[in-house]
Amino acid sequence: MAIIKTEAVVLKGWKLGETSKILLLYTKDHGRVKAVAKGARNPKSQFKGCLEPLSRIAVIYYDKPARDLQLLTKADLVTPHYHIIGDIAKTALGLATLELLNKAVAGEEPFPQVYDLLCSTLERLDRSEKFSEGIFWYFQNHFIELLGYRPNWSACLKCGASLRDSGGMFHPSRGGLVCGQCAGGAGGAVISGEALEILFWMQTCSISEACSIEPDPVQTAEIRRAFDLYFKTHLDYLRPLNSLKVFYEHERSKTARE
Ligand SMILES: [Zn+2]
Repeated sequence: MAIIKTEAVVLKGWKLGETSKILLLYTKDHGRVKAVAKGARNPKSQFKGCLEPLSRIAVIYYDKPARDLQLLTKADLVTPHYHIIGDIAKTALGLATLELLNKAVAGEEPFPQVYDLLCSTLERLDRSEKFSEGIFWYFQNHFIELLGYRPNWSACLKCGASLRDSGGMFHPSRGGLVCGQCAGGAGGAVISGEALEILFWMQTCSISEACSIEPDPVQTAEIRRAFDLYFKTHLDYLRPLNSLKVFYEHERSKTARE
């Protein structure tokens, strides 16, 4: 048994018995870890207030490799992300980020770059006052790249022709975007040059810049669909993100009220 001291983001939590809690953590040094926090739901617990999903915490736990559930002994809040929690749209986007990461990453492999990307995404979402969905797009663009599938948003996969003015068609069976000619009339999701320009720019812009864009509703719909198709193409085991449905629903009702 080893004593592990690291940092983590709380992905999920479940009640256990009368007072305890099971947590799914994404740790900086050991990937995804499931741990029990004994007595965490007791009002006087030392864990109080720091084990909610989206919290970034410093943790100490006992690790037994043969065991599925580790024992959490200490947790201290590093960043609570209160502004995410106080805002329905930001909460849904933050939870969609956690859900995507949890569904896409397998096992307990450490992946510090993914951890750093997750932390900067949540930190920026917490401070964002503009187009928060841009931060989720930034996360998806860089996350899929870290997983080894850097999207090519600028050129046809078959002939190499630039797509940034003309737009392209997304063909999951061909692994990405092709030009109109190479698509050969076969069905595919059409993506405009403007939407591709945003996606391409997001591969090199800073995370702060990612929330400064102002896409119109058509571009927004195209970009949402492009990410959905791209993730499904490369990670075919991925299931739809429930938190993202909540976010889209919230956006729809907000537009209907305006
Ligand atoms: Zn082509």
